[in-house]
Amino acid sequence: MSLSEFDIIRRYFCRDELAFARDGIELGIGDDAALIRPPANHSLAMTMDVLVEGVHFPVGASPGLLAWRALAVNLSDLAAMGAEPLCFTLGLSLPRGEPAWLDEFSLGLAELASLHRCPLVGGDVTRGPLSITIQAHGLLADGRALRRDGARPGQAILVTGYPGDGLLALASLGLEGVLPDWFDAAAFRCAAEDRDYFRQAFYRPQPRLEFARRALPGLEAGIDISDGLMGDLSHILRASAVGARLNLAQFPLSAPARRSAGEDLLRQAALFGGDDYELCLTAESAEIPRLMEIAQDLQMPLTEIGRVEDEAGLRCVDAHGEVVDFAQSAYLHFPDP
Ligand code: ADP
Ligand code: MG
Repeated sequence: MSLSEFDIIRRYFCRDELAFARDGIELGIGDDAALIRPPANHSLAMTMDVLVEGVHFPVGASPGLLAWRALAVNLSDLAAMGAEPLCFTLGLSLPRGEPAWLDEFSLGLAELASLHRCPLVGGDVTRGPLSITIQAHGLLADGRALRRDGARPGQAILVTGYPGDGLLALASLGLEGVLPDWFDAAAFRCAAEDRDYFRQAFYRPQPRLEFARRALPGLEAGIDISDGLMGDLSHILRASAVGARLNLAQFPLSAPARRSAGEDLLRQAALFGGDDYELCLTAESAEIPRLMEIAQDLQMPLTEIGRVEDEAGLRCVDAHGEVVDFAQSAYLHFPDP
């Protein structure tokens, strides 16, 4: 490396905007381990994501944007648990220690870290192919975790943002290698005016922490959509031993997505596309007006897309109430339970 590991840590990761003090962090970067003291009656929530160049992001991606994404996807997991961000650690494998790259990268991290009061408290740096691993830690008051097993028949199923944009964003960035085999490239054409929208969707996902914080008392089950809405919702259904009916006509689709993709691809992307980092939630009907108010206040799309049912399995109905059968479809790839 052009810079030693020690120099990299001192110059780029110990900076005040990134490794700032906060309550609960007794000791941050600098010793053999950080010391964390969660307040009484709280659990520590931990989550990790590994991003590898050329696999999870394009070669040559802007370091500041990459940093934002790497931290944001972790904060999204904390939001999906109803946890408050506390701190994070960073494992960085770097081919070179380029000062300009490191500076932009650490400033990108600092921007999101300070926004959510979530300082960097430790990590590791090594020479190797570019990969970024972040582990985020959050706090949860006892009994308040938003788990996957809280769905009950009759509850509404809600989704934040626009599911499908994540997958279309991968296509617009040219990450063909990670597109699922059912992705019909001929049905996707991203207009020049929408390129920036998808770039933002990919690099600057907005972790729904503020919404989760305010909505939490009215939520029953939650998950963040990283592997596709159908697959992720099926985790909730399985954990809760229930089924669901989704109303395809109610699915929220962004204007850029409508402009860029054919109807079939749009629907497939919304149901099966990954990388959205939005929340899929269940709530009792009586809570919906309050949840909608919070969403409106945050200018965040929140849409009721279906209902939890007694009968196991996931059924999709179209605008005419007809059940749409995805079972035969080539694009039905449920992740392993
Ligand atoms: P050790 O050899 O004891 O594992 P290191 O020399 O790797 O420690 O790191 C020294 C200190 O710098 C530790 O507190 C470690 O957590 C921190 N650190 C190392 N790499 C990073 C990083 N990428 N981001 C933040 N802190 C880091
Ligand atoms: Mg040590």
